[in-house]
Amino acid sequence: MTRALVTGAAGFIGSHLSHELLDRGHEVRGFDNFATGDPARIDALADRDDFEFQEGDLRDEGDVASAVEDIEWVFHQAAVPSVPRSVENPKLTTTANCVGSTNLLVAARDADVESVVVASSSSVYGSGGELPKREDQPDSPESPYALSKYWTERLAVQFSDLYGLETTALRYFNIFGPGQDPDGEYAAVIPKFIHLMRDGERPIIYGDGEQSRDFTYIENAVQANILAAKSDCSGEAMNVGCGDNTTINSLIEQLNEVLGTDIDPEHGDPRPGDVRHSHADVSKARELIGYEPSVGFREGLEQTVAEEVER
Ligand code: NAD
Repeated sequence: MTRALVTGAAGFIGSHLSHELLDRGHEVRGFDNFATGDPARIDALADRDDFEFQEGDLRDEGDVASAVEDIEWVFHQAAVPSVPRSVENPKLTTTANCVGSTNLLVAARDADVESVVVASSSSVYGSGGELPKREDQPDSPESPYALSKYWTERLAVQFSDLYGLETTALRYFNIFGPGQDPDGEYAAVIPKFIHLMRDGERPIIYGDGEQSRDFTYIENAVQANILAAKSDCSGEAMNVGCGDNTTINSLIEQLNEVLGTDIDPEHGDPRPGDVRHSHADVSKARELIGYEPSVGFREGLEQTVAEEVER
């Protein structure tokens, strides 16, 4: 049994990861300030043995120092997410994601934790370059959010080189699954579209809908985190995707099939900062940590719809 800290435990990915760690018999300390997280996710975890929660803010060094006490594995999921939110409010994104991640890495180093896995993002690649994206391609963050993720992963890599702290950065490609927030201006596309189409409303596509994403089911991201913490690999950033890509137009078609609806989307202007195509080559993660996406896009979509229509 290992003692794990999950920052962002009230968030979508952090809560799924916390449940899986508990299922595997580990102890979990969740940490969150509820900036974008949902207290109901902590309520669901609080009923479980071996879970404790610390409400705290990554920007507060004292909060972070107590969060890492007696911890072996750190899973750093907390961040202010979303490209458009960062375009609206670059300072909030930068302080939470850059200052917060620095505080956490310093505290983890000082507490001699065994390993730190940080959440990075496919957005660090930017719009150019060949597909699928490989980690040896040049990075080109095009929004304050992408830059903050780039900062986080580079600092994690440096902490491995400078201080011997075991770190891995996972470049997530559009993670989706049950329980993701469908509401609000900054909601991710899959939960937002499922809820709108389920209720007979037309979703809005920004641009022509031919932009594509490597939508990755949550179980794959959770698996990658645990593999990274267990592995001896350090100072590396790697893609965590499904290895496939789907256009937004095809997403709508497939949602119509799975939901049994026949809804035409509306089209709006493209959003600034959004990349055109995103598709992961996952061979580096496969080689270094033994990652293998076990749930494909369509199967993940069907599982998500099955749970979301009940919510
Ligand atoms: P989320 O918004 O559901 O979770 C993020 C959590 O971090 C929230 O619970 C929020 O309250 C918490 N948080 C924010 N600022 C904080 C602070 N200063 N102190 C403490 N807690 C704070 O987002 P998510 O989708 O679960 O994303 C988790 C991580 O994965 C983030 O780092 C995000 O950048 C990264 N990521 C996610 C995706 C995706 O598709 N969901 C893609 C790429 C990268």
